[in-house]
Amino acid sequence: MANKVALVTGGTGGIGTVMCKRLAKDGYKAVANYYSKVVPTADAEKWRDDLRKEGYDVHIADGDVTNFASCADMFKKINSEIGQVDILVNNAGITRDAPLHKMTEQQWYDVINTNLNSVFNCSRLVIEGMIAKGWGRIINISSVNGQKGAYGQTNYSSAKSAMYGFAKSLALEVAKKGITVNCISPGYIGTSMVMAIKEEIREKIVAQVPVGRFGSPEEIANMVSYLASDLGAYITGANMAVNGGLHMY
Ligand code: NDP
Repeated sequence: MANKVALVTGGTGGIGTVMCKRLAKDGYKAVANYYSKVVPTADAEKWRDDLRKEGYDVHIADGDVTNFASCADMFKKINSEIGQVDILVNNAGITRDAPLHKMTEQQWYDVINTNLNSVFNCSRLVIEGMIAKGWGRIINISSVNGQKGAYGQTNYSSAKSAMYGFAKSLALEVAKKGITVNCISPGYIGTSMVMAIKEEIREKIVAQVPVGRFGSPEEIANMVSYLASDLGAYITGANMAVNGGLHMY
């Protein structure tokens, strides 16, 4: 893994931060993408400096994952300043929940652009480099709700579910080139956002999870670490469900 570069989109967020720490600990040059219009550069720099103080050598890269040209600029900068991206974790995501009869066009497109079109933008921009190098990993962070659907999430479930088709098709295209393409579908993960939900509501959610607790961001990062490593070389086109038994298939 020496000198391999791992980019996590939306890397300064709840799960992204833990993934970046794990990838840095594993010895990769971990780069967190952030978008300066939603996360000010000063905040991203503080995020980087705090992690460096903790001993994680992480980098940051500004780019709007919904915008192909912005992603192209970002990858150009990463290539020249850090190195070619070997591991891409498509993690940036948002929710804009509403039942379909109340969903606005904006809510639909915002979610599709951020959660799905971002996967095209970033994967398209790294795939040629990976093919030329004969090695690569693309890991899409989907969701259990892409597998089972969720009330008020036609937009989010559609985007997350489409990631499976994308991964399977691209996996076929690049299987002989040393590149794997997979999805991870987390269940309920105890990020600060989830832990901020009222305790009585949290208890009701936990009651639906067979193992009886939320997952941790570390448990998602463990799977990213495994798929990124050579141990995961024979896993491609797969969806790894990390959901405590919430949905089995
Ligand atoms: P966060 O909101 O903490 O992380 C998502 C990150 O993506 C944020 O940093 C966000 O920035 C960033 N982002 C949003 N829009 C853009 C953009 N246009 N360009 C670049 N970055 C952008 O959420 P989580 O860490 O909880 O989620 C990470 C992934 O895991 C998501 O894809 C989510 O759908 C998935 N997931 C999470 C689960 C959970 O229980 N937490 C369960 C299942 C799946 P900002 O915050 O400023 O908008």
